[in-house]
Amino acid sequence: MIIDFLADYYRDVEKYPVLSQVKPGYLQKCLPESTPHNPEPIETILEDVKKHIVPGLTHWQSPNFFAYFQCTSSIAGFLGEMLSTGFNVVGFSWIASPAATELETIVVDWLGEMLELPKSFLFSGKGGGVLQGTTCEAVLCTIVAARDQMLSQIGKENLIKLVVYASDQTHSAIQKAAKIAGIHPMNFRAIKTSKLTSYALSPDSLRAQIRKDVEAGLVPLFLCATVGTTPTAAIDPLDKLCAVAKEYGMWVHVDAAYAGSACICPEFRPFIHGVEGANSFSLNAHKWFLTTLDCCCLWVKDPSALIKSLSTNPEYLRNKATDSKQVVDYKDWQITLSRRFRSLKLWFVLRSYGVHNLRSFMRNHVKMAKLFEGLVAKDKRFEIVVPTNFAMVCFRILPSALSETVYKNGKLGMVSEEDANEANRKLLESINMSGCVFMTHAVVEGVYVIRFAVGATLVEERHVITAWKVVQEHANAILSTYEP
Ligand SMILES: *Cc1c(COP(=O)(O)O)cnc(C)c1O
Repeated sequence: MIIDFLADYYRDVEKYPVLSQVKPGYLQKCLPESTPHNPEPIETILEDVKKHIVPGLTHWQSPNFFAYFQCTSSIAGFLGEMLSTGFNVVGFSWIASPAATELETIVVDWLGEMLELPKSFLFSGKGGGVLQGTTCEAVLCTIVAARDQMLSQIGKENLIKLVVYASDQTHSAIQKAAKIAGIHPMNFRAIKTSKLTSYALSPDSLRAQIRKDVEAGLVPLFLCATVGTTPTAAIDPLDKLCAVAKEYGMWVHVDAAYAGSACICPEFRPFIHGVEGANSFSLNAHKWFLTTLDCCCLWVKDPSALIKSLSTNPEYLRNKATDSKQVVDYKDWQITLSRRFRSLKLWFVLRSYGVHNLRSFMRNHVKMAKLFEGLVAKDKRFEIVVPTNFAMVCFRILPSALSETVYKNGKLGMVSEEDANEANRKLLESINMSGCVFMTHAVVEGVYVIRFAVGATLVEERHVITAWKVVQEHANAILSTYEP
């Protein structure tokens, strides 16, 4: 019954308003005040799902979803997830479910090989990978490992001196992880980027900042480089950044949460060129790799650094396999003890698509993003704000288009960058309130841009073309009555 419901949901999902239109607190008014005393049949509960839950969903699986970064799904991933939920094993250590641990070590190596990660990141070399929930958790684990490694050399009392580096485009997850790891909030450096480098972190700026910090008696600890930043999909130059970090003995983590998946295509692999100089690398298979939420793949060169920081050995978990040191106990590679059998769904995805179809899945999105970019470029009222990387296009209405309208309407008034930002903000709001499509925004160097991220599992060319028509219609409406 539930599967049938879901099948219908996917069939109809593009007809729903993609951004939920409910008001805060709507659900409290629909549901009883407390748990029912007597059991209720699933049929009744499912009716309430249809009536009350579906309207409160923003439909991430809609082909009209172009917001944030997509969260793709697939039948393969879903079936793997179903089995994992069905078995409901808790593979914290090898003995707690040997298949869960061993399958995970196998699929992370498979995926690592598809990405051409250096052998040093794989179990078949001296490294290894782990499937965690999200990038936030994965980055926290790596910062903690780097911190403890450094403090064991310079003494615990120097925690206050440790500095974490990233760019001003880096995901907020890294700053949060640094904070949780006890890095002093004043010692988080969000190094400024600019349009000149297409918002990539410049190795020279990094070096200049590190030098300043070292002169001030601080200790450079950790650099997070991003391949495919969240605001504009910018790509930090890994080889040069790793070279700088190496001079100062820092840990480098590469956050490729969104774009890492695409690097299984030979034409995108150059974007992670230089990864061999990093200490750890992660991507979210739940973003652009058809694996249902949650599945963050983290590879490290030196698993013992993670294990030193995160292992626990209570008597009640002791067992022969662990004592033999012949096995991986994943509880020591992550924050939580209990863990899901995530490798099943990734294994299903890898096997049922194969490298060939996984590559074409992402290439198809990149092609559609190019199509959208071409449509925007043809309309002189708009500009593409940064070069398009992977499958994300950043665009906006130009201030000049706004001035022109003001002039045509016979009115006076200067159009400033702030006015343009406000007009683009209004444009996006009006687009999203229509329910036809959903996009989100970013602000780079004070410029408000609309992000168009192609990547929903069901998206086709026609959705992209319609989305552009929707943008134009709403832009026409805004421009026709525009006054600064
Ligand atoms: C989405 C994203 C994150 C956050 O991922 P979570 O899995 O939600 O923690 C971090 N970094 C980048 C570049 C992202 O795109």
